[in-house]
Amino acid sequence: MNDILKDTKFIMGKYNIRANKSLGQNFLIDENVVEKIIDGSDVNNNDLIIEIGPGLGTLTKFLLEKANKVISIELDKKMIKILEDRFSLYDNFQLLHGDILKVDLSSIIRKEKENSNIKQVKIVANLPYYITTPIIMKLLEEELDLNSITVMVQKEVSDRLISNPGEKDAGAITYSVYYYATSESILEVPKNSFIPEPEVTSKVIKLILRKTPPVSVKNKEVMFRIIKSSFMQRRKTLLNALTNTKVFLNKEEGIRILNKLNLPYDIRAEKLTLQDFANLTDEYLNL
Ligand code: SAH
Repeated sequence: MNDILKDTKFIMGKYNIRANKSLGQNFLIDENVVEKIIDGSDVNNNDLIIEIGPGLGTLTKFLLEKANKVISIELDKKMIKILEDRFSLYDNFQLLHGDILKVDLSSIIRKEKENSNIKQVKIVANLPYYITTPIIMKLLEEELDLNSITVMVQKEVSDRLISNPGEKDAGAITYSVYYYATSESILEVPKNSFIPEPEVTSKVIKLILRKTPPVSVKNKEVMFRIIKSSFMQRRKTLLNALTNTKVFLNKEEGIRILNKLNLPYDIRAEKLTLQDFANLTDEYLNL
């Protein structure tokens, strides 16, 4: 039995823990996977690491050895008690009890960055899968002063997050991720790397935040609303999808805009590049 599996079983027994499914609790027990996450996130002693959902502290332990400071945010009170006991001797550890979706990350980061030892801020997490998308969107849309986001997610979701616009798995969220970050796949993780085993295969991905966006657009909120509308009815043509969702007043207006952008009338959303959507948005705002 490896050390992580031993520690996990010991802690679960000692505190009488059963994984809470509704909180997305699947605890990592695979040493090799933990190592790859730590390597992939490139954590070093200039870093503030923000960890989402530390659980029993498996990743946390390794992060604390390498980072300047680790702030872990956990919702489950039972885990809080375990983490406080387990890491009481680490003075670079800070634990926040709360819901990641409600935490003001921007002010936490601003405050920590006043400490001159912290040069970069990185997110590292084995995410609770039931809120993967809202977490990723929060991290991106709040335009936090982040260097990278290294996270474990469901494999199917990872395909949508890191494929390029125009590729097979692209969805509305693909364009958002692409706007804010470049992305890479770190490794695929089988179900038996966790206890209890999740229902799906997982994947660790890394998003590296861009310094400047890859396209310029008059209003990016409007652009993302148009992208969402386009993909709401992804089997329809873009023209029909955007007419049905009232982005275009009527088909004639839609045709006029597509004409201007040199896009065929029967094009579907997934064929558009981010630049196409930026142009479309600028045209739409010009009306
Ligand atoms: N990092 C641990 C546990 C991952 S399971 C490991 O790899 O073993 C996901 C963790 O997210 C659980 O500890 C769960 O309690 C926590 N969690 C669930 N919802 C959360 C929320 N809204 N905010 C913060 N943490 C949450």
